[in-house]
Amino acid sequence: MSPTLIIPVIEAWTNIYTSLQSSPYSSCQIFENKGAAVGCSNPHPHCQVWTTSHIPHEPLEEFHSLLQYRQTRQSCMLCDYAALELQKKERIVTQKGMWVAVCPYWAIWPFEVLLLPTRHVSSLPDLSKQEVADLAEILSAVTIRYDNLFKCSFPYSMGIHQAPLRIPDGEQFDKAISHIHFHFYPVLLRSPTVRKFLAGYIEFLVSLLIVDLRCCVSRNAISLRNKRQIDFVY
Ligand SMILES: [Zn+2]
Ligand SMILES: [Zn+2]
Repeated sequence: MSPTLIIPVIEAWTNIYTSLQSSPYSSCQIFENKGAAVGCSNPHPHCQVWTTSHIPHEPLEEFHSLLQYRQTRQSCMLCDYAALELQKKERIVTQKGMWVAVCPYWAIWPFEVLLLPTRHVSSLPDLSKQEVADLAEILSAVTIRYDNLFKCSFPYSMGIHQAPLRIPDGEQFDKAISHIHFHFYPVLLRSPTVRKFLAGYIEFLVSLLIVDLRCCVSRNAISLRNKRQIDFVY
């Protein structure tokens, strides 16, 4: 999709998130599924918004880690991480304005991308108009690279992690601890028909996720970085 078409999508995400601020729920998880490989029956990215009265495990662990980091280093872990990736320039896929897309070194999925701002922004309504326009540009740039990589309509799940709607009782963090970011979890491994499965002893039976060493994160970042031409239309 072109950035022009993505801007209204970001505005819709923002409006939904804002409208839920007065709700009794704690968490609003916005995500997009694309492709039959991730169970999507539509040809286009399919958005869903799930709200829950608790904060689900993964974002809750992230808030706990951000709080621990702030207490020990008086800084934001994701602000520092974005700065580190910009300094190393090993895993950057693309940049636009304050946004940077990287293949994080802890990636589990092949061609996994973390998209985050270098400015500390907690949630979608905190973005300026220019930052929304730049976000639309980089979302388009990342997904075009995915399509160009194996010359197919590249399947993925993408989710937005941002500030909770409410802080559950007993938690020590505040909404400002959040540093908005986007997780892209693609499922293809080596080609349009060879996908990665989370299965068997390691992933299912003992919940121990591993990095596939055949999928070097830095090499995958370079592969995506070099797929910037709009040369494939599915
Ligand atoms: Zn931050
Ligand atoms: Zn996250």
